Amino acid sequence: MSDGAVARALVLQAPRNLVIREYALPDIGADDALVRVEACGLCGTDHEQYTGELSGGFAFVPGHETVGTIEVIGPQAAARWGVSAGDRVAVEVFQSCRQCANCLSGEYRRCVRHGLADMYGFIPVDRAPGLWGGYAEYQYLAPDSMVLPVAGDLSPDVATLFNPLGAGIRWGVTVPGTKPGDVVAVLGPGIRGLCAAAAAKEAGAGFVLVTGVGPRDGERLALASQFGADLAIDVAVEDPVAALTQHTGGLADVVLDVTAKAPSAFAQAVALARPAGTVVVAGTRGFGSGAPGFSPDVVVVKELRVLGALGVDSTAYRAALDLLVTGRYPFDSLPSRCARLEDAEDLLATMAGERDGLPPVHGVLTP
Ligand SMILES: [Zn+2]
Ligand SMILES: [Zn+2]
Repeated sequence: MSDGAVARALVLQAPRNLVIREYALPDIGADDALVRVEACGLCGTDHEQYTGELSGGFAFVPGHETVGTIEVIGPQAAARWGVSAGDRVAVEVFQSCRQCANCLSGEYRRCVRHGLADMYGFIPVDRAPGLWGGYAEYQYLAPDSMVLPVAGDLSPDVATLFNPLGAGIRWGVTVPGTKPGDVVAVLGPGIRGLCAAAAAKEAGAGFVLVTGVGPRDGERLALASQFGADLAIDVAVEDPVAALTQHTGGLADVVLDVTAKAPSAFAQAVALARPAGTVVVAGTRGFGSGAPGFSPDVVVVKELRVLGALGVDSTAYRAALDLLVTGRYPFDSLPSRCARLEDAEDLLATMAGERDGLPPVHGVLTP
């Protein structure tokens, strides 16, 4: 890097207080790197950070779904990560020491050295060099970063789907152990729900139901059939249990609840599961929101497995990037909206439901 070069970054100083600041590009040593951000995917976490629902250590540069090109990389980092300058990579949100028991077992979300404290898109700017997130022209990659190579012909904005599709694969297939022929119900038709439907179909699911609620989900439900869904219904007008039974003659082997701001979905998930079936609850939905209509006795009587899923891992991310490259699902034609740094605030507020317009299925920041 030439001396004196700077990167523009969006800093969230407090809820709804997003400003552009400039940071000096750091000197890169033997074991770290700098990535030029091409696209950063936005998810529910992003607009919850923006509104303050997810309170964080302000101020920080958000952005945890980064895809970009390695600008500078030290020789040790290149050897350890298996990438070189000029390579397009996806940056994982978690860092891994690659040595502690949790990292060695693959549970690097619980890395003893880093854990949840060192997630990209959450680290305060007062820790040098400040460029710890994807809402910036450049993102700093510390020595324990985890990066994934992105195939050259995948566009950066589609490549940011490594994150939601990785989640769909882990939450909809790996965690519940979805098998060929299984009946799978996905509650919530957002980007994660559509990705989970595609992942379940890829795993050989015999029937995939996707549910949403109300007119705001109409466009997403209409898209679901292109992403592996055999049936997509609006639970505001149709009973999902009756609909699933009518189409499959029974209930679901696997139910995945990826709804947002829909506390009553959990009771529906439990109702949709067959006896001895599996229910996965993934992504947080606002602590303390409860689960109206849920009766624990139903879990007992049906002998359900109820599992929580928080993050994603390299295995699922790599499978996601491989699936994106095949082009088997029209991820490149998902209704998406790209914003520059200057326009990010309007996009985040729209995604948070604070503007008149409908939120895009996929929001992307392209610094
Ligand atoms: Zn995210
Ligand atoms: Zn570790």
